[in-house]
Amino acid sequence: MRAQPLNIRAETDVVVVGGGQSALAVAYYLRRTGRSYAVLDAAEGAGGAWRAAWESLRLFSPAQWSSLPGRLMPGGTNYYPTRDETLEYLADYEHRYSVPVVRPVTVSAVRQAGDRLGVYTDTGTWLARAVVSATGTWSSPNVPTFDGQDDYTGTVIHSAMYRSPAPFAGRRVVVVGGGNSGAQIVADLFETASVTWAARRPPTFLPDDVDGRYLFGEETARYRALVAGTHAPPPQTLGDVVMVEPVRRARDRGALNVVPMFDRFTPSGVQWADGHRTREDAVILATGYRPSLGHLDPLGVREPNGRIVTRGTRSVREPRLWLVGYGDWTGYASATLIGVGRSARATVEEIDRTLARPMETAAQ
Ligand code: FAD
Repeated sequence: MRAQPLNIRAETDVVVVGGGQSALAVAYYLRRTGRSYAVLDAAEGAGGAWRAAWESLRLFSPAQWSSLPGRLMPGGTNYYPTRDETLEYLADYEHRYSVPVVRPVTVSAVRQAGDRLGVYTDTGTWLARAVVSATGTWSSPNVPTFDGQDDYTGTVIHSAMYRSPAPFAGRRVVVVGGGNSGAQIVADLFETASVTWAARRPPTFLPDDVDGRYLFGEETARYRALVAGTHAPPPQTLGDVVMVEPVRRARDRGALNVVPMFDRFTPSGVQWADGHRTREDAVILATGYRPSLGHLDPLGVREPNGRIVTRGTRSVREPRLWLVGYGDWTGYASATLIGVGRSARATVEEIDRTLARPMETAAQ
């Protein structure tokens, strides 16, 4: 195979790929080490995935429990920030800590380049001694396909593309998926459209007084118990439906009724398990996301199931690579605003220690 041309833009100790909350938390700790670093983000502006979230999205964690290291999200203990407030907070955070974000820059590949890693982008290559991947999941929606879908004449979108109820006014819509996204989109739509909520498994609704703050406390207790080798409390996962105010209101209005998943599409709608068919104008798939890891493929670090084996947040196969913010496999609650700080700090401490030693190369 021919070597890729390098077209070097810069050499730094660390490159962080991504520009959302995880990248910012990593940058916060990197700044304190005095090491050189760059943050490369494909987006046009600050905010990561929150830029693509639907207009009415509110955090399930109160402001005080939705903060990155060093700066409290404004609003206090009983306020659930909106999407726009979260975007403002992240833009302000980036500015306040002078995070050196270069955007829009899409990283297409990370490759071994001698004793460095080459970070290949659409505007040139960065050479780094360590790379942190913090690309999140929102750019890789999990989109299942269904029998009969090719002949369906209505609209099918993933929740990643859902912005507001307006385009669905007066229409018949099926929302698929029993998690928080599904519940919040049903709550957003039910007054505007005729909505059916379908899921393979019935959702678990958390009690009204359980929110992100409580869940994070639970996760922390579980983490500590696992580390200490003692009995871990059963998981109450962040995937269970948190009864944020719009979801509570939908429930109180009788709009949160889940039916078992439909069997197949028909040309004009869907067919349900008992054989009856309904006309449906649109189907919204709130079916989750996968980690966005394609840029790491040239490193050969992915397992057949697509995952990367890590010890803490560090890749076992490529010890110059760290992964932050993708979910519990890269640190408990690391895919949340409040949780990612812990993973980011441990990651930067390890990178700093590693770079202080003679260079390590890939473990083959
Ligand atoms: P992202 O925010 O996705 O940022 C990744 C960035 O990387 C993006 O800017 C993207 O453009 C960039 N990127 C991707 N690929 C490349 C590439 N190849 N090259 C360069 N740049 C790239 N968390 C909470 O704490 N509280 C909540 O209430 C909450 N509510 C949620 C509600 C929903 C419906 C969902 C789906 C998630 C919610 N979360 C919540 C979880 C959460 O905060 C997100 O998962 C979070 O956005 C993850 O941040 P991140 O920085 O890891 O990734």
